[in-house]
Amino acid sequence: MSKKIRKSIPQKNKVRAELQKEISSACPFCDSQDVGHFEIHHIDENPSNNLIENLLLLCPTCHSKVTKGDIITSQVKEAKNRLKNKTEKIRFISVNVDSENCSWLPIEGVSNAFEAVKMKSLFPIFNFSFINQTKQTVLLTNIITRVKRLPIGLAGPDIPLPNILRPLIKYKIKLPDDADKTNTVLTEEIEIPQGRAFKFQVELYSDSMERFKPPFNKYVLFFEFRFNDDFNILIPKILLNSKEDYDQLTYRILG
Ligand SMILES: [Zn+2]
Repeated sequence: MSKKIRKSIPQKNKVRAELQKEISSACPFCDSQDVGHFEIHHIDENPSNNLIENLLLLCPTCHSKVTKGDIITSQVKEAKNRLKNKTEKIRFISVNVDSENCSWLPIEGVSNAFEAVKMKSLFPIFNFSFINQTKQTVLLTNIITRVKRLPIGLAGPDIPLPNILRPLIKYKIKLPDDADKTNTVLTEEIEIPQGRAFKFQVELYSDSMERFKPPFNKYVLFFEFRFNDDFNILIPKILLNSKEDYDQLTYRILG
């Protein structure tokens, strides 16, 4: 008997249904369609990691092949990626900052993290890239933004405010208050033809320059993009002036 401790998958039926949809009710390795007997495999072999990205529905035969190593992990990951890319309507490619026109630069070695370094416009301007993987033209209709202000220690010295350069951009989104969420309905929608990559700019602004004053304020930004007034694409979180997301300030005693 296996004594492996595993946390049961929360909302297991819902997760299973989603996984079944992902594989179009056929085993990704052998095309068996006896889906009622399929088993949920943990890709990273950690039975407590129940994120949907870590789960793949397999027929019992192929599941045991994976367990025995006849089907290796890289093949499993490849299968999962192939399925994921197939089912995603809009694929997120990247987010960058327009460093020509704003003060922000990527923080090296941390993905989607940026810091204010120069005294140009402190309002960050992001370039978002996606691919429309559907067989239709889609419209970008809304941008949903949420912000979390990270706790910081003492306030820094007063820095004179720079002249704000106003670059020509596509969308200006007001930075929500801490923990708030804003939903901006785009008056100028972007129309994206099927199968095409697309890119647009979002400039965040705030009534108060104080909020962005570097390097003292740290934020986590959450962006969701809505298409056709119908479905949302959530992108990885963006870090501003911070290398990590955290909830509590911890103090270290230097000695
Ligand atoms: Zn199979």
